[in-house]
Amino acid sequence: MAEVADVRELKKLIEELSKKRCQANGTCLVSIYRPARGNIKDLMELISREIATANMIKDKNVRKNVQRALTSIQARLKHYSKIPENGLIIFAGVTQSGKLEMYIIEPPEPLTVKMYRCDVTFYLDPLKNFILPKEKYGILLVERGEATFALLSGSRLEVLKEITSHVPGKFRAGGQSAQRFERSREILAHQFMEKVGRLAEKYFLQDNEVDGIIVGGPGPTKEEFMEKNYLRPELKKKVIAVVDTAYGGYIGAKEAIMRAQDKLKDVRYVKERALVQEFLDHLAREDGYALYGVKPVIKALEEGIVDKVLVSEKIDLTRVRFKCPQCGHEERRIMKNDEIVKVEMGHKDVKCPECGSSMVIEEKEDFISYLEKIAEEYGTKVEIISAENEEGYMLIRSFGGIAAILREKRYL
Ligand SMILES: [Zn+2]
Repeated sequence: MAEVADVRELKKLIEELSKKRCQANGTCLVSIYRPARGNIKDLMELISREIATANMIKDKNVRKNVQRALTSIQARLKHYSKIPENGLIIFAGVTQSGKLEMYIIEPPEPLTVKMYRCDVTFYLDPLKNFILPKEKYGILLVERGEATFALLSGSRLEVLKEITSHVPGKFRAGGQSAQRFERSREILAHQFMEKVGRLAEKYFLQDNEVDGIIVGGPGPTKEEFMEKNYLRPELKKKVIAVVDTAYGGYIGAKEAIMRAQDKLKDVRYVKERALVQEFLDHLAREDGYALYGVKPVIKALEEGIVDKVLVSEKIDLTRVRFKCPQCGHEERRIMKNDEIVKVEMGHKDVKCPECGSSMVIEEKEDFISYLEKIAEEYGTKVEIISAENEEGYMLIRSFGGIAAILREKRYL
């Protein structure tokens, strides 16, 4: 019944859902987010309350639509004995198609948002978080006879594996047996660290390709582990920090992340800087591989010749569909958000090129989503660049927030 969506499916679904509008002239599209480990009974009660509240909606059409949406949700929820493992997302309402539409989604990762909304459109922001590209970091905590392997993906932390093995502490007494004991203790410790190294390879290289690794632990074992090269070279060069933690396990992993916070930021910045630098190098060489500005980049994207688009997270644009109420002429424009506000408030007029009447905004689309949509068709990578370092600032200030590195030369 509910689909566990993967990222590609989610992208398409978000695209589709963002076009839906309440059919009645009002707010009638219901969006519900329930977190992982949420309670189904609470949700049923909420729906009942909302059905009662909907009685007070003045507009008959809106009232009818809201109640239809809610009772359908109620009927569907009867099949659930509990909220699914990662939470539950429900969208329902009578859209411009005139039909009641319902979407029930089990998110691909645990949902933390709890929300009920009834609006002109579906509320999609929490859903969009699942499709953002995420950096991944491996966290390896190692202490005598104990190790934790955890993965930080975006803002989500997950312990992948915890292992223990009995490695005894140092023997105090002297003599022959003490030497033998010490020898076997070293062998056990060595075997354990080799195992940790092999598992690190499995979790941080084979199963997940991480952008960086944080090594932690309470004692000197972590340093020994690093110095004696139990981590193979490909992994070792990904280690961004070795930090002290008081604990192992999940709490220790959280501690390690906290202590390596600045380093994590650096990894992202280093990646972003390198991208902007690559663009600047092409531009300086005038080799025909660099472009910038909204129009030229979109044109090249549509031609399928772009390898990477660099777009500033500060870019302040939206793609708008205008329609002329007089002659029905439609056109799409990419506009600055403050210009759109002016049009919506009636402070600015956009004339129909056919008949000269004022056009109205029919639809708005997030600019970066729009870029990603074209990019996906041609296997182009869209890299979102923060404005928190010099290169990122330069991208927004000097290049309009958007630049491209091309696959083939373009002479302008
Ligand atoms: Zn017109």
